Amino acid sequence: MIRLYDSSVGQVVDVVPRDEGRLALYVCGPTVYDLPHLGHGRHALVWDVARRWWTFSGYDVRFVSNITDLDDKIIERADRDQATEGEIAATYEAAWWAALDALGVVRPDATPHATAYVREMIELIEELLARGAAYSIDDGIYFDVTSVPDYGRLAGQPLESLRAGARVEVVADKRSPLDFALWKAAVFGQPSWGASFGPGRPGWHTECVVMSLALLGEDFDLHCGGLDLRFPHHENERAQAVALGRPFARHWAHHGWVMAGEEKMSKSLGNYTSLTDLLASHDPRAYRLLVLRSHYRQPIEVSAATLGDAERALARLDGLARRFALPTLAGPNALARAESTAWSAEGEELRAEVAAALDEDLDTPRALAALFEAVGRAHALADAEDDRAEALAEAVGALLAALGLSLRAGAAEVDQESARLVAARDAARTARNWAAADHYRDELVSRGWVVEDGPGGTRLHRA
Ligand SMILES: [Zn+2]
Repeated sequence: MIRLYDSSVGQVVDVVPRDEGRLALYVCGPTVYDLPHLGHGRHALVWDVARRWWTFSGYDVRFVSNITDLDDKIIERADRDQATEGEIAATYEAAWWAALDALGVVRPDATPHATAYVREMIELIEELLARGAAYSIDDGIYFDVTSVPDYGRLAGQPLESLRAGARVEVVADKRSPLDFALWKAAVFGQPSWGASFGPGRPGWHTECVVMSLALLGEDFDLHCGGLDLRFPHHENERAQAVALGRPFARHWAHHGWVMAGEEKMSKSLGNYTSLTDLLASHDPRAYRLLVLRSHYRQPIEVSAATLGDAERALARLDGLARRFALPTLAGPNALARAESTAWSAEGEELRAEVAAALDEDLDTPRALAALFEAVGRAHALADAEDDRAEALAEAVGALLAALGLSLRAGAAEVDQESARLVAARDAARTARNWAAADHYRDELVSRGWVVEDGPGGTRLHRA
């Protein structure tokens, strides 16, 4: 049983999936107008680790994450760079995937783009207008937050106190400063779409409602994102679904800030360093390890010092891989399942310990502590020539691979195409498609690899 802190109720709760054995997840994706920043790296890693762990635990996970490819910031950037909005979005979406690939993040099962769902967003806004939950003023269509009795549930504050704290708004005709734009009336020279209520473009908060319901269905299991999205973005998403009478996310989960020193990492604070820069100067695995060593709801500091610390811890893990000749890689995109792993008694005990930590609100620091303790134990057993050492070391490697951390024994580097074939073979084996699995093995053999099945999936060695 997965337990997770649900922001909509303010406590750790049992996650009971809508469909037994399956998990439907929606994670709000980036607005692609600039290089990804450090906060994006944590965002991608936290939910990648969760997804991998839940898959490893036996859930059939469907992971949807959108790309916001039209927004004020993209329009501004296009204007500044004298490019089209489409060119800006394509450039920075490519940078996004390049960074996530370097981090070893598994690509989502579906990546809906906002501009592909404008028709559906228009229909949603029409329905909100028909139900009296939205109104039209000169500059567009706004959502009336008073139409949702428990508006403020995610923020953890009632409507009155949110209203009192709201900044003075420049849109004079809005009924409440908390009302938000569903549709922005067309501006000359900017992209717009025709609609029954006048030409324009959708506001940001509507796309995720439409895309999550379209791809995951009503009452999907989990809606995730950074703490900065809890209010107003997620509050406003939820408000639209409630006003439509459509069951929305069963649970909401939010991860903490990335700090540089004492300050929240954000571009507006001027402490912006791109994730792309970080990945050029550090082992990308160090960022994953840093994320794993911190609880996802706590803030983390990403700096040369904390990354250096993570790199030293990584060296200890790679040292274990070297001593026991653990497999270099199970493919950066591999999603393994526990049942395909052969566990020794020690390995099984370790797995249970790690599972107990991760199933209780994704307590990765506790899981990592157990894994590092096992590293010391495996070395000690090997020093004593105890033959349980190897199986314990293999269990450590398999569990770290399940969290997306691949160890390097210093053996032959696995090239990208081989890694892809390993991932495809593991996926085929998980799906019990033996013909496809054999086909991928033959391709790997033709590339000069000796292919073995080990805990955590396909292992490669040079002949
Ligand atoms: Zn969203």
